Amino acid sequence: MSSSVALRLPSIDGLLRHPACAPLAERYGRDSLLTGLRQLLDELRPGVLSGQLAAVEIGPEVLAGRVGERLAQQQRSQVRRVFNLTGTVLHTNLGRALLPEEAIEAVQMAARYPLNLEFDLASGKRGDRDDLIEGLIRELTGAEAVTVVNNNAAAVLLTLNSLGARKEGIISRGELIEIGGAFRIPDIMARAGVRLHEVGTTNRTHARDYEAAIGPRSGLIMRVHASNYSIEGFTARVATAELAELAHAHGLPLLEDLGSGSLLDLTRWGLPAEPTVRQALLDGPDIVTFSGDKLLGGPQAGLIVGRKELIAKIKKNPLKRALRVDKLTLAALEAVLGLYRDPDRLAERLPSLRLLTRPQADIHAQALRLQPLLADVLGEVWQVSAVEALGMIGSGSQPVARLPSAALCCRPQVSKRWRGRYLLNLEAALRGLPIPVLGRIGDDALWLDLRQLDDEPAWLAQLPQLQVDP
Ligand SMILES: *Cc1c(COP(=O)(O)O)cnc(C)c1O
Repeated sequence: MSSSVALRLPSIDGLLRHPACAPLAERYGRDSLLTGLRQLLDELRPGVLSGQLAAVEIGPEVLAGRVGERLAQQQRSQVRRVFNLTGTVLHTNLGRALLPEEAIEAVQMAARYPLNLEFDLASGKRGDRDDLIEGLIRELTGAEAVTVVNNNAAAVLLTLNSLGARKEGIISRGELIEIGGAFRIPDIMARAGVRLHEVGTTNRTHARDYEAAIGPRSGLIMRVHASNYSIEGFTARVATAELAELAHAHGLPLLEDLGSGSLLDLTRWGLPAEPTVRQALLDGPDIVTFSGDKLLGGPQAGLIVGRKELIAKIKKNPLKRALRVDKLTLAALEAVLGLYRDPDRLAERLPSLRLLTRPQADIHAQALRLQPLLADVLGEVWQVSAVEALGMIGSGSQPVARLPSAALCCRPQVSKRWRGRYLLNLEAALRGLPIPVLGRIGDDALWLDLRQLDDEPAWLAQLPQLQVDP
């Protein structure tokens, strides 16, 4: 090509009329195509002027192809499905519990049609959205009354504010926890307008500590289930029943933030014991709060259960309106709670419980099946083995307990100084797949815990696309 002949970019009009662009206009709309072409031409112009670009690089077909890729990229939604092979089942950053089909259908119905969200079909009068799930929750927990909000953090905030604003909230120093993100009990109390009155010590708090703190300014006593850490050794903690008695003797309500909580005793499925909401209520606290998307296995929600007159007070708080759940959540929650009526079939119907109880032998057999296929794609540099691994429940539930699982363990066969880079590159390549695969790096290897690999065909189908930079 002679450098004396100046190259010129095709005109926008010419491109828009070009057959290569017509399908793009059809697919993405003329405005998006126009914007995309303008941007691309602006970017290419300096290269054309300086003579760095060849004619073939700015041909209409090439430009249409590049714009098409960009438009496809733009159109791809930001909310993406991933494979959670991290070993943490209820992973907060990956959306926690997966909903059962029954809940998905309920959500579709609620999304598609008008519904009786706040309308009493029996009387034809205005209703209350809590009424839709109150009966079920009472049945499953033994609570007198119920209200539901956006998540458990909201449940705690709302309860504290409703029952303790401008008064003191008494709490053990061993329960002033941080849940992760921005949820710290002292901060939530402050935002709720409750003055923190901490008692006891980190490891030991006695009944006399609470008793000494009770005075004319006291508004409530709070108990927080230390879900995400454990204190062992020289410890003392007042039993909830005793604490409830003490609170009631002084006319104070006792709130218990149960964190995850569970509606059924999980030990029947061989899982670590987690307090059930029913048992927690029997110990006498006036209000118990817990999450909808932790061990319960439902949508994100915060459930507030307990004494009727206190729930009524909580529902009258204007903050309740700001923290209320939407119709999609309520529809999903009702469907999930409905499954709890048949505990015998719960582990097959509720995905979170099914995954948590998946037998290790089953997962290990899957690992053995997939090992040669992954090894083949990764090539000689990587040693891929099917190994036993330990996973976690997640979401702060049972931080110490481990779930016996199995994983594909990928180790780069390179000198120590290069291993970190290889691992990061493999991690990035897995993340770059059409359905990103998320594992975890540890002990000089990348681990793919297969407990949650339900959709093996989809995982296998994209395996040939895995390309790892050296
Ligand atoms: C998880 C947790 C919360 C927060 O619940 P969300 O539903 O995530 O808002 C509050 N308290 C405890 C003890 C928890 O474990």
